[in-house]
Amino acid sequence: MQEVYWFQLHRYGLSTLIFIAGLFLSFEIFYFYQENFWRHWGELIIGLLTSTLLSSYVFILVGRRIFIEKKLQDQNNKLTHINSILQQEIDDRRRIEENIIAKKEYLQKRHETLKYVTKLTTSELRNAIMIEQSVRRKIEKFLKDSEERLRFITQHSIDGIISINSSGTIVSWNYGAQQIFGYDEAEIVGKPLQQILPQNEILLQSEINTKPKELKGRHHDGFHFSVEISHTHLKNEDNFFDTMIIRDITDRKEYEKRLIKALRDANTANAAKSEFLATISHELRTPLNAIIGFNQCLLIEMDGPINSSQQESLKKIEKSSFHLLSLINDILDWSKIEAKKMEIEVFPQNIVELITSCVEDMQPLALQKNLTIELLLDSAFILVEIDRMRIQQVLLNLLSNAVKFTEIGSIKIRLFDERDRVLIQITDTGIGLSPEELEKIFHPFSQADSSITRKYGGSGLGLVISTNIINLHKGSITVESEKGCGSTFTIILPKSQ
Ligand code: ADP
Repeated sequence: MQEVYWFQLHRYGLSTLIFIAGLFLSFEIFYFYQENFWRHWGELIIGLLTSTLLSSYVFILVGRRIFIEKKLQDQNNKLTHINSILQQEIDDRRRIEENIIAKKEYLQKRHETLKYVTKLTTSELRNAIMIEQSVRRKIEKFLKDSEERLRFITQHSIDGIISINSSGTIVSWNYGAQQIFGYDEAEIVGKPLQQILPQNEILLQSEINTKPKELKGRHHDGFHFSVEISHTHLKNEDNFFDTMIIRDITDRKEYEKRLIKALRDANTANAAKSEFLATISHELRTPLNAIIGFNQCLLIEMDGPINSSQQESLKKIEKSSFHLLSLINDILDWSKIEAKKMEIEVFPQNIVELITSCVEDMQPLALQKNLTIELLLDSAFILVEIDRMRIQQVLLNLLSNAVKFTEIGSIKIRLFDERDRVLIQITDTGIGLSPEELEKIFHPFSQADSSITRKYGGSGLGLVISTNIINLHKGSITVESEKGCGSTFTIILPKSQ
């Protein structure tokens, strides 16, 4: 549009300029030729006319150009508009074409499916329908059967199974409930739950599906009795059901009471037994020590010479007395363990020296049986906080067992020095233990095999006492063994308590 104005300005400006120039030229000529007046006027008029014609011509020419350009502009605008319409048309058409292709594909698939279905014969179709109907019938039957089974179980269960609605009214009642509470269905359905469970609020307020609760039930005849109740809760848009499974636990409660009393009596009897054993052991130990002492006096001939046969007899008395003393000591220790009165007093000790001295004590016994005792030590000095007497008792027990239950071969003791603990391993090549025997040997008075007791003797208390002593040191005893292939007992002891 601005361009058009610019041309208009040109048009008027140019024709005016030409006209003014023509006018100026005519007047110039007029003044130049003043002497020939008429000729001058003629030239002036011709000049004016020429400039008028020229300017008009320029005016028309420029006007025409502007007109043409305006037309062209309009035409251009129209073409742009048509172009955009065409573009839109093209886009629409592409969209439509895409839709048509998608529909074509869908129809193609449908057509193929129909072709497949039409290929099926009528009988095949009938078969498919029949199979579908028979499956449905089977499912319906299964559901019906399961419902009937559930109803049967509910009705015939000896546990009471009852349901209540949201206002706590009984809506279903089974045979078991009838037996427990003495009401028949017609009497109780529609009555509040409180009638049979006076503390029903405890049950209803408690969480559903948790542990069974013990409450008091009220019988038709008015007496109260113990019941155990588990209850489940069903709530959906149409239904609310609290279902309870109730069991009369009167008899169980009675048994429980009797059991608790029996347990209490057993504990009292056990404590009395431990007390008795401790006292009797103590009372036996004192005269036994006197026997051993006087026997030794006789043996060293303090009261005069004795012959070889007397010496033999006195040695037998000494052996039996020591055996009896060790048995009494074991019983005394065990009664202390039972009464939880066994205590230890720990001091730093060189465990290497202790093991070596135990092995030396055991050598004569081993030599009697032609057995060797091998000592494998990590170091010559390892300080461990222990009750020396008690750990010595444990080591001697394990070593004497190893010697006792080994006929041929050797016994090895290994000591491993680990960062904050020591490991003592006692391995023998003796009779070994089966898995069943392994389970028994740490129980008081248990021995792997009663025939072994007869052959080797022993109280069956040594391992119980040893385990207890090691546990008091915050350590452990473990055993690995195979019948006929020997055993390895491992003691683990922390270096400090
Ligand atoms: P006991 O005084 O009878 O030896 P223990 O408690 O020391 O009591 O041992 C219990 C039982 O464990 C033994 O009677 C024996 O059957 C079994 N037992 C212990 N050590 C060994 C071993 N080194 N080899 C085979 N059996 C063993």
